[in-house]
Amino acid sequence: MRLVAKLGSSSVTEPDGSISLLTLKDIARQVSQLRDMGHEVVLVSSGAIASGLKSLKIWERPSDQVVLRAAASVGQGTVISAYREIFATFSLEVGQLLMIPGDFAERTQYLHARETLNSLLDFGIIPIINENDALSNEQLRYGDNDKVAALVANLIGADHLLLLTDQTGLFSADPRGDEEASLIQEVEEVNSELLEIAGGAGTDRGSGGMASKLLAAKMASWSGVACTIASAQEPNVAIRVLAGEKFTGTRVRPRTKRLSARKVWIAFACPSSGEIVVDNGARLALLSRGGSLLPAGVVEVKGVFESGDAVSVESDDGNVFAKGIVQMGSRDILDLKGLGSKDIGGRPYLEVIHRDHLVLLT
Ligand code: GLU
Repeated sequence: MRLVAKLGSSSVTEPDGSISLLTLKDIARQVSQLRDMGHEVVLVSSGAIASGLKSLKIWERPSDQVVLRAAASVGQGTVISAYREIFATFSLEVGQLLMIPGDFAERTQYLHARETLNSLLDFGIIPIINENDALSNEQLRYGDNDKVAALVANLIGADHLLLLTDQTGLFSADPRGDEEASLIQEVEEVNSELLEIAGGAGTDRGSGGMASKLLAAKMASWSGVACTIASAQEPNVAIRVLAGEKFTGTRVRPRTKRLSARKVWIAFACPSSGEIVVDNGARLALLSRGGSLLPAGVVEVKGVFESGDAVSVESDDGNVFAKGIVQMGSRDILDLKGLGSKDIGGRPYLEVIHRDHLVLLT
């Protein structure tokens, strides 16, 4: 089986920013065992910023993005050397991959990432991925690695995504403030109610939090990949998860219908630049006939966007039910809205969103 396991900053580093050697050693032992059983493992690891801040002798996370980028540059070296040393004690080599959101969007980079990862796995190397925080732009970066891990799981056709954190899983309320909160062990479908329960951000050492994990679990599920959210301290968690044994944590079922990588990216990883409101006829054509969105069905356009941007599609009651990449900018759509092919003279009648670039969110 192919496993993508993600470790957050709060698992990779101690509260003072030093590397959590015990956790890393335990992960390396499990990875080594899994490899001996014939499984393939890719790690997605945070910790660069938390570790780099310690090296820069900054004891509270600053808001200055340039300082955070500098910290990531220093800390990434520390994190990867720690992994290299620890994995070497199990006779395993590691390979580093630093990715930015664009790498999942640009076809060439995307294919290169996939080829590199497959090649590393063929060589028996353990790939360790992080977002390229030293160069990433605040508006564009993912910030937490949960999404990166879900996109990687989709990219390499993983069987399982394991999100390791400092909590035991998803709770029915925030366990840090509510004693009644109970662990949700099995999630059939990540819906808005669950996302609401997952609520706010994580620790000040990382930027993930449970909501981000649940969204990543949803991305995995829509990619046909099973997902588990569990504590990095849960004994033998990676081994037990792949063996289908009992453990404490939250499992999210994969959907039977697998979305393509591009559609997962459109649906979850690409920010929406505006909204298009459509009439009921268009809504039904999209939902039940798998059609493209035509100018005739457009009622209203919100926001200013260009051809190639991602845009949400909503019905006239404000319910967002799809998202897609538009083939024309907002100005052209406003010009053509409500018009059929016969109404526009000899001009070419383009789809607003072609069905190949449209994802139904229902
Ligand atoms: N990729 C990050 C890291 O490795 C992100 C977490 C953060 O923003 O602190 O440090």
